[in-house]
Amino acid sequence: MYIDRYAVIGNPIAHSKSPFIHTHFAEQTGQAMEYERLLAPLDGFFDAVTAFRREGGRGLNVTVPFKLEAYAICDERSPRAELAGAVNTLLFRNDGSIYGDNTDGVGLVSDLAFHGVTPRDRRVLILGAGGAVRGVLAPLLQTQPMELVIANRSPEKAIELAHTFADMGLVHGCGYETLNGHAFDLIINGTSASLGGELPPLPEDVLSPGGIAYDMAYGKDETPFQHWARAHGAAQALDGLGMLVEQAAESFQLWRGLRPDTRPVRESLNALR
Ligand code: NDP
Repeated sequence: MYIDRYAVIGNPIAHSKSPFIHTHFAEQTGQAMEYERLLAPLDGFFDAVTAFRREGGRGLNVTVPFKLEAYAICDERSPRAELAGAVNTLLFRNDGSIYGDNTDGVGLVSDLAFHGVTPRDRRVLILGAGGAVRGVLAPLLQTQPMELVIANRSPEKAIELAHTFADMGLVHGCGYETLNGHAFDLIINGTSASLGGELPPLPEDVLSPGGIAYDMAYGKDETPFQHWARAHGAAQALDGLGMLVEQAAESFQLWRGLRPDTRPVRESLNALR
């Protein structure tokens, strides 16, 4: 029997939880499909995609460091992928064209909602100005926070991002030292600092009493940022595993036209930690 093939492409890729998540979704919704890991050489993204399509591939999730290259190969992109300037989901259409989407931002907002967190009318601080932050800014601003501040180690990148998204809401870019004397209800860590066991240089009082902290990174243990947030009175200190599951659900829906229930996969992943 012919089975539709999907994969996550990246470098490195061995650690990816996407095959586990999509296999669960497929079983849950009764979809006949395969989902695998695809390691592409750093200079071989396009060739790897072409070979995968030739072998019957129907779609790809794209992870580090290929999201910009994925953006470039699309014939058509969703408005949110255009805004993000990066693509994490490719759909290979029957007419031979490639459609690109970015589901990271909606993944974050859905995960916040799952945990009962609504950015609307809150003071929100987002740390970092790399690809992940760029991808989530539009969906985050669409929730209408009172203000959104982007802080980055290299302030000029944060200022530039704020400028790009300025017509979507009150958004401001700065360096970490500018945060002194300001407090936020929700702080989202979109830096890669946690991956190296590090913490961005945050002022002591930057989290409002009972505020919420969210680290887009995730791992077996609590991240340094989650640890910092708990020590500074956070009501909730969440990590990005739920965002991963929610962005996957959005990709699955694009490919298969069905919305999987994310709760059972969340529970399985948490049990495996
Ligand atoms: P990028 O390499 O594009 O950007 C990294 C950002 O982190 C830059 O803003 C950089 O600052 C900053 N940074 C790195 N180290 C430090 C440090 N020690 N202190 C302060 N700032 C630092 O990475 P991505 O944007 O692609 O990924 C960021 C994070 O988001 C990663 O942890 C990744 O795992 C996570 N992520 C999670 C997803 C999920 O589904 N949960 C989806 C996508 C990403 P500078 O510009 O000054 O160098």
